[in-house]
Amino acid sequence: MELLTNRNAMRAWVQEQRKAGHRIGFVPTMGALHAGHGRLVQESLAFTDRTVVSIFVNPTQFGPGEDFDRYPRIFEQDREMLQQQGCHALFYPDVAAMYPDGFQTAITVEPLGSQLCGLKRPGHFGGVATVVAVLLGLVRPDKAFFGLKDYQQFVIIQRLVLDLGLECEIVGVPTVREADGLAMSSRNRYLNDEDRQRASAIPAALGAARAAFLAGERQSGRLEAIARRILTEAGIHRIQYISVRSAATLMPLEQILEDGVVLTAVMVGNTRLIDNMLLKHQPQERDG
Ligand code: AMP
Repeated sequence: MELLTNRNAMRAWVQEQRKAGHRIGFVPTMGALHAGHGRLVQESLAFTDRTVVSIFVNPTQFGPGEDFDRYPRIFEQDREMLQQQGCHALFYPDVAAMYPDGFQTAITVEPLGSQLCGLKRPGHFGGVATVVAVLLGLVRPDKAFFGLKDYQQFVIIQRLVLDLGLECEIVGVPTVREADGLAMSSRNRYLNDEDRQRASAIPAALGAARAAFLAGERQSGRLEAIARRILTEAGIHRIQYISVRSAATLMPLEQILEDGVVLTAVMVGNTRLIDNMLLKHQPQERDG
């Protein structure tokens, strides 16, 4: 696996692969890799010829008082995991490489980016959209792989690629979960034992809403109430949102007549956790 740490090296690698006729798959991450990231890499390896993963803890998507400084950084372990998986290249730039002197561009995707997580994290999705646009410009992948775990991010990136006319397919990969259903996240390592146990109520709450949906309940308010009750009964009281939306546009829905998604963000201890489940009229295997 090749290690690339600046823009020129990244571009040169891409050119080489293109010359050889390879289709390029790209998996952007912030590192502290787990099996969820592993699944994205597997998909990329399966559906393209050459896979490049990026590891970059992007400062512009963290707000003041958020966990940028303490975000887990375990580069050697990450590199080992990617090497073992058979990944072809690792892009590992520092902040100066990604945001060279004089950098001025900022991309916003509005109003998608100012609702749900955007309410509590103003500027977050602008930071994400900007860094992803830079990365897609450097790598020019045929396919880029994103987790449905970050569903709002997934919809925003799809919008960005459509709006900017980028020739890249955005592939959404189902959420990988722990044995008790908790969505894998680099932030789960912040949880103490008690909070970790409590956090299993998140997938339980979303799962109950989905079960009610599959049993015929179509009123968003009722589905949200079912999920909210399970969270509060488990002692999760700081619920930033629990919301049923259109899966395609994230617009609020009173009744789920098209495919929906139930999304939540909660605080467990000092850790902010997000999760979601799709509410599909015809359940398919590939639903997050
Ligand atoms: P991050 O490193 O947290 O920025 O995540 C990098 C990519 O991995 C994003 O596209 C995430 O949506 C995806 N991802 C994170 N956790 C999971 C998970 N549990 N299952 C599937 N994809 C995930």
